[in-house]
Amino acid sequence: MLSAQAQTGLDLYSIDKTADPCNDFYQYACGGWLKANPIPPEESRWGRFDVLFENNQKTLRAILEDSAAHQDRSALDRQVGAFYQSCTNEDAIEKLGASPLQPELDRIAAITARTGLVEEIARLHDQQVYVFFNFTPSPDPDNARLNIANLDQGGLGLPEKDFYFRSDAHSEEIRQKYVAHIAKMLQLAGVPSDLAAQKAADVMRIETALAKASLDITARRNPKLLVHRMSLSELASLTPSFSFNAFLQTLKAPPFNTLNVSVPAFQKAFGVQLAAEPLPNLKAYLVWHYVSSSARLLSRAFVQENFDFYSRTLTGASELRPRWKRCVNATDDELGEALGKLFVERTHAEEGKERTLKIVAAIQEQMKLDIESLTWMSPETRKQAQVKLAAVANKIGFPDRWRDYSSVSVSGGDYFGNWYRANQFENRREIAKIGQPVDRSEWGMTPPTVDAYYSPAQNNINFPAGILQPPFYSNNASNPVNYGGVGAVIGHELTHGFDDEGRQYDADGNLKDWWRKTDRERFVKLSDCFVNEYGGFSPVSGVEVNGRLTLGENTADNGGLRLAYLALLDDLAKKSVPLSQTQDGYNQAQQFFLGFGQLWCENQRPESARLQVQTDPHSPAKFRVDGTVSNMPEFSRAFGCKATDKMFAAKACRVW
Ligand SMILES: [Zn+2]
Repeated sequence: MLSAQAQTGLDLYSIDKTADPCNDFYQYACGGWLKANPIPPEESRWGRFDVLFENNQKTLRAILEDSAAHQDRSALDRQVGAFYQSCTNEDAIEKLGASPLQPELDRIAAITARTGLVEEIARLHDQQVYVFFNFTPSPDPDNARLNIANLDQGGLGLPEKDFYFRSDAHSEEIRQKYVAHIAKMLQLAGVPSDLAAQKAADVMRIETALAKASLDITARRNPKLLVHRMSLSELASLTPSFSFNAFLQTLKAPPFNTLNVSVPAFQKAFGVQLAAEPLPNLKAYLVWHYVSSSARLLSRAFVQENFDFYSRTLTGASELRPRWKRCVNATDDELGEALGKLFVERTHAEEGKERTLKIVAAIQEQMKLDIESLTWMSPETRKQAQVKLAAVANKIGFPDRWRDYSSVSVSGGDYFGNWYRANQFENRREIAKIGQPVDRSEWGMTPPTVDAYYSPAQNNINFPAGILQPPFYSNNASNPVNYGGVGAVIGHELTHGFDDEGRQYDADGNLKDWWRKTDRERFVKLSDCFVNEYGGFSPVSGVEVNGRLTLGENTADNGGLRLAYLALLDDLAKKSVPLSQTQDGYNQAQQFFLGFGQLWCENQRPESARLQVQTDPHSPAKFRVDGTVSNMPEFSRAFGCKATDKMFAAKACRVW
């Protein structure tokens, strides 16, 4: 694609000079990009994150093809090379048809009593097919240094609770298509068509009962709602129809006496379903989830049917992604740190580490000053906030120690088996953590990932090497553009420690209230401004952004951009560069806001936008830009906006 020779690193061709930055900043920053970058048929949205990720995918493809061709070079090459090879060998996969499913389907068919279900449920969990509920280790809410067992709601095939209950025509249609999809998948797995339709209805009834007892995603943002410590015997009386002891034994979980049950009402409802539904229906539910989880590993008929519902219907994509991309992603999913190690070596990712740490330190310093200057916070709470901020740990680029997958047996001709053996390795690795100290050096994202995260229970921010590249960061970009890019992302992750969810955790990651009551009340009041503001945005007619679901992300976007701006001002002052100094026709402040805006250039299909506002705590890209800049008087000043302009910060929301 054409790229203007910019001194700043801004993408000048992306700017739509016919738009007015004060009334539609997103269009101004991204209009040219949006026009030049239509959504590829296989995608549901296409933005600058995706373009960067696609570049990483191309790098990964080259690595994997090289490894596949040189499997005798090293154990690592053999492992990832053979895995990739097994995935790309479509002819072999096609010939197998539905047969890889058969051993597990036979086992399910042979179950004759409810007690036999327990073992099968555990067997499926062992392969990461999480039927009926989720069972994982997680940090003890009162002692975040220790992993305890955690039982949580789960077992649904639609994205979220509310998909089972919304009464509008569009939602009804999705449910109809979902039931038809279940029936088609059962047929592909060998169930006769009239029986498949009936079984699909049974599955839908079971899932609807589970959904009814689940908490919705907005309620789940309050971590306190998810803490219910109980003993195994208390759990047994909550769900008498299911022997958790037998389940744990089959899973080979380490011994423990107490666990956290996130949603007790859900476990109760699960028990009721297990006792009330006829055995054949419960077995149909297991078959459906096993087949659905396996679909992408099987022949074209399965892959296509899975795509038709989960991608075409739910997100609007019209074509399958090319096989090589699916296989790159599969290797990243299953052997992520093996592939990640090669990615880091090939891309010299260690070089980005030091310069990123410098920006992190600058942003952290600004947050310290910001907390000090807040007028709404009492000195006591402020002191605690500083303690928490000072304790935030930074993880940049990639892990210090790489995960060892050598026990996963990988064969170049067995994609199905490779996938499930890797799943089993991962599930057993997780389950073994119960009762063990939390390893805070572990990463929740692989190195090529174009994303970042904050962990509230570990109080650390994590930036994979994949995001430390243009447009987020470039040695050749101007300071303001880098601060508006990676600076805003760092500020965003840091602010997560102080959003509606993160603020409930203390400096060591414990779920412990360190706020004075009056400060807590002021925080909620200031946050409500964001709830109202973003709740008024609508990406698709009839669909509005959920201001409560997106509150944490919006708080982080707003806090993050402000912190990055303050860090830029500090940097400019140190270098005696005036804010008015221009490059590429933009002064320093304008470059900063354009650098930020251009991160988010993205085209999105209406189906995908609808799905996003119903399931994703992030606001759609346009509102992440316009909502945030319109809360900053510095933006209005930078572009000379008038009080009547849309982006003018008249009733600006601000927490941090
Ligand atoms: Zn975030």
